[in-house]
Amino acid sequence: MRFTHGLLPLLLLMATSLVAAPSAPASAAQTSLRLTAFSPANAYSNTAAFYALGPKPAASPAAQAAARHILDQLRIFGVTNASLDSFESPSPSGLQTFCNVLATIPAAPSAPSPAPLLLLGAHYDTKIGISDQFAGANDSASGVGALLEIARVIALHPLRHEVRLAFFDGEEAAIAYAPNDGFHGSQHLAATMLKNEEIPRLSAMILLDMIGDASFSLTLPANTDHDLRKLALAAATDEDCRSAVSLLPYGMSDDHIAFQQLKVPAIDLIDFEFGSAPGKNDYWHTPADTLDKISPDSLKKSSKIALRIAEALDARLPAPVPAESSGFVRPFLKTGLYAIAILLLLLGLLGCLIPALPGPPLAYAALLVLQCHPSHPYSLTFLIISGLLTVIVTIADMIAPSWLTKKAGGSRWGTWGSVLGFLVGLIFFPPFGFLIGCLLGAFLGEILASHSSKSAKKSAPVLSALAAFAGFLLGTGLKLLLCLYFCLQSLHFWH
Ligand SMILES: [Zn+2]
Repeated sequence: MRFTHGLLPLLLLMATSLVAAPSAPASAAQTSLRLTAFSPANAYSNTAAFYALGPKPAASPAAQAAARHILDQLRIFGVTNASLDSFESPSPSGLQTFCNVLATIPAAPSAPSPAPLLLLGAHYDTKIGISDQFAGANDSASGVGALLEIARVIALHPLRHEVRLAFFDGEEAAIAYAPNDGFHGSQHLAATMLKNEEIPRLSAMILLDMIGDASFSLTLPANTDHDLRKLALAAATDEDCRSAVSLLPYGMSDDHIAFQQLKVPAIDLIDFEFGSAPGKNDYWHTPADTLDKISPDSLKKSSKIALRIAEALDARLPAPVPAESSGFVRPFLKTGLYAIAILLLLLGLLGCLIPALPGPPLAYAALLVLQCHPSHPYSLTFLIISGLLTVIVTIADMIAPSWLTKKAGGSRWGTWGSVLGFLVGLIFFPPFGFLIGCLLGAFLGEILASHSSKSAKKSAPVLSALAAFAGFLLGTGLKLLLCLYFCLQSLHFWH
């Protein structure tokens, strides 16, 4: 990275300092499973192992090997969804192949859907041209070692954010920072996430760079997100290291810039006082950047500040849906409503055959009961039309049979005969036995009627039976059809 001067950042810084200083209440008791699980020893051994790999100049075979090492470590630490992302990018020596290591840790089940994203990054390449042996203990092994431990901890205790981990290649400039020199990895990832429409889901980008200096300090650049900077200061207070965190009066060009340019809130957790005395940065990009300058405690403080920022962002997400309404009440409500609806539908079907029970209105009531479910399964139009049909069929049933019977000289005997015949036919000779049963029943009913009737005017039993049959179909048939239709509509709701 490099620093960038400017009056505006300085003014912003002064404003921030005024706001940030009193807004960092101590809450020392605050801790979490992740903070407890974080192991400074692991972070340190990760750093040492990565440092031991030797120099990793950007876009080099050594960098490729380092990328594979990170990938292997991620998988060992339970981050199974990890891969290498090789890409070509123009550099001062022409088109070169760089390689990011990317990983995803799925969000906890209680996360909103779709889960927001949180990007945690560190570059792994080392500066070229310092010495043949330059392996960058602080710049870059510390960031890699800390991020690997952070990854292990989050994989163990997922956040309510989906976490993306990025180990960037090509952060260091081969010659000097220019559009084709430096930040290759972060620029490539930002462009990829933009293309994949993931940028709007990104809550924040947290960058770890040079964070292992045994003489711990964090120098937050002026060009990091104001809100994230406040969270970092609050986190430092909670980690009891607030006095070691300061705000730089200038900005830094680093891997967070590519995301900042896409309006993603980004913060660069960096210790730019890596030197032989407080305030000095004379170890940076020199052969003095060796493992003996790194301490587990500094890795812990930086990492826990990053974790606390992540947890603070998590805490801002909408509260998870309470378990009782999603897990118990809703299914119970559905079962309860359905039980009432089934009872009403059965009574409705029975009511089509028994004059005492109003069939279609009871079946229609079943639909209204189901409509009480929070999902409101039926449209208003459907309910109005169904209601009108219920009224029409009920009225038709009251008028049609008696009108037809009168017209054709049929009797009550015929009507009852058709009902009984219908039932016998339906039960003993399915599926169409009810038609013949109904007709036969009506005929037998009319025969009985003609024998018992004392009326002088006797009509032909066949004609009366046909009238009773037609009346039955018009009345009971229509009612049955409508009730069966309502039954089908209720089934739809259950599925
Ligand atoms: Zn560097």
